[in-house]
Amino acid sequence: MPTVLWFRRDLRLTDHPALLAAVRDAADGEVVALFVADPRLIVAAGAPRLRRLTASLRALDRALDGRLVIRLGATDAVVPAVVHEVGATAVHVTASTEPYGRRRDAAVEHALDVPLVRTGSPYAVAPGRLRTRQGTPYTVFTPFRRAWLEHGWSAPAAPAPTVRWVQVRGDGWASLAGPDHDHRRADRQPSEPGADGGDPTEPAGERDALASWRRFAGGPLAEYAVDRDRPDREGTSRLSAALKLGEVHPRTLLADLAQAVAAVPELAPDAEVFTSQLAWREFHADVLWHRPEAAHSSLRAVVPDDAWASGPHADAAFTAWSEGRTGYPLVDAGMRQLATTGWMHNRVRMVTASFLVKDLHLDWRRGAAHFMAHLVDGDVAQNQLNWQWVAGTGFDAAPYFRVLNPVTQSQRFDPDGRYMHRWVPELRDVPAPAVHQPWTLGERAPAGYPAPIVDHATERRATLEAYGRRG
Ligand SMILES: Cc1cc2nc3c(=O)[nH]c(=O)nc-3n(C[C@H](O)[C@H](O)[C@H](O)COP(=O)(O)OP(=O)(O)OC[C@H]3O[C@@H](n4cnc5c(N)ncnc54)[C@H](O)[C@@H]3O)c2cc1C
Repeated sequence: MPTVLWFRRDLRLTDHPALLAAVRDAADGEVVALFVADPRLIVAAGAPRLRRLTASLRALDRALDGRLVIRLGATDAVVPAVVHEVGATAVHVTASTEPYGRRRDAAVEHALDVPLVRTGSPYAVAPGRLRTRQGTPYTVFTPFRRAWLEHGWSAPAAPAPTVRWVQVRGDGWASLAGPDHDHRRADRQPSEPGADGGDPTEPAGERDALASWRRFAGGPLAEYAVDRDRPDREGTSRLSAALKLGEVHPRTLLADLAQAVAAVPELAPDAEVFTSQLAWREFHADVLWHRPEAAHSSLRAVVPDDAWASGPHADAAFTAWSEGRTGYPLVDAGMRQLATTGWMHNRVRMVTASFLVKDLHLDWRRGAAHFMAHLVDGDVAQNQLNWQWVAGTGFDAAPYFRVLNPVTQSQRFDPDGRYMHRWVPELRDVPAPAVHQPWTLGERAPAGYPAPIVDHATERRATLEAYGRRG
């Protein structure tokens, strides 16, 4: 009698504790590899995320010699149906920790007449595990990070013994087709180049994720502490979608980092900064575990409700922001990178988010929803809590008076304008320093590029006044 391994955010075959548990539990090592295409998730995912998910599942299917079973339908109906069909004795999963996944798993558990066995989580330390000395959840990053480092994590899981993947009828790849899904892109083999030759979202699956990681660890990691803030350089790992989908587990990365530092001690400062970024990911998951409402509500009421702009003027501003037509080159470059590739550099995510909330006075949830619809790495914990961090409404957020200046940010982090030139073609012939403020060129300003839709200094003052009423 087989067991079922229900894949969700763990689309890999190595360092996979739930896979080991499923094989151990199965007679003759027979396991059914299941993915459920739940229409509710498919509709919510948005085309870029769906495309990325499909590419990842195709890679997993290849690694399973075509034995991945894709079934269409509500999870609490499909999982029990598959269990009955194959006579499975248990369903094994990597635990979900975010609000939707926890509710979904509870419903499936209720509908099953065999155990739902949760082994491991998508994090090095499971959300909810760490507590302060007073027994309360952590609300501040630095002490969380300290406790997280002290707690530590297990070594990567051993390779699975031989698994006999059971062949079962599936509903096919069409189950993953969302309303505006592009099959040609989902079908492309990983070795084929992306549409513009440099699309960072194209690699997919465990093999590509590990290859990207090795490339990063063998090169850019050595400059990460500085280069991670430079959108004009290839200085970050680009592993966020792979981590989101579980193509690679953070435990694998942390183990490799420790080895790399042991071999080359000079890597220690950069490895430490990279580890801190993974700790932010774990901190946000921990906050969301304790405060599921953070997915849709401000954690701290630092902004009066009447401070968020609404109405036709606000809608026009939102459209200009989302289309990359604000007249502020770094903001526009970021929003166009997002629209074209489904990914945006972290520094630019901060600048574009700050601009929406503090220059346009729009509710952070509006920007967060746009990001979720367009990011290939869109993740409730990371997206909503980073937005709350920028807006100043999060627990350990940027203070409300920290308003990022889109001009000084581009002067500092894209000094020659290379990133802006890449994503805003109208500015390609405008060299630095004018590219940071093209409006200063007066009549020589490039045709077709908009004038700033707001004056940063004026809007900054308005924000400080509004926040000050509560802050
Ligand atoms: C407004 C806003 C929205 C964001 N939305 C998301 C999102 O939906 N999904 C997402 O994965 N990240 C999100 N981030 C965090 C960060 O921008 C991305 O994780 C990062 O840009 C991914 O690129 P990378 O893999 O090259 O990062 P690297 O610099 O190589 O970092 C390695 C890994 O650390 C984690 N990490 C890095 N920075 C952060 C951070 N600030 N918070 C949490 N984890 C981090 C990511 O998993 C990342 O892959 C958001 C940040 C902001 C400011």
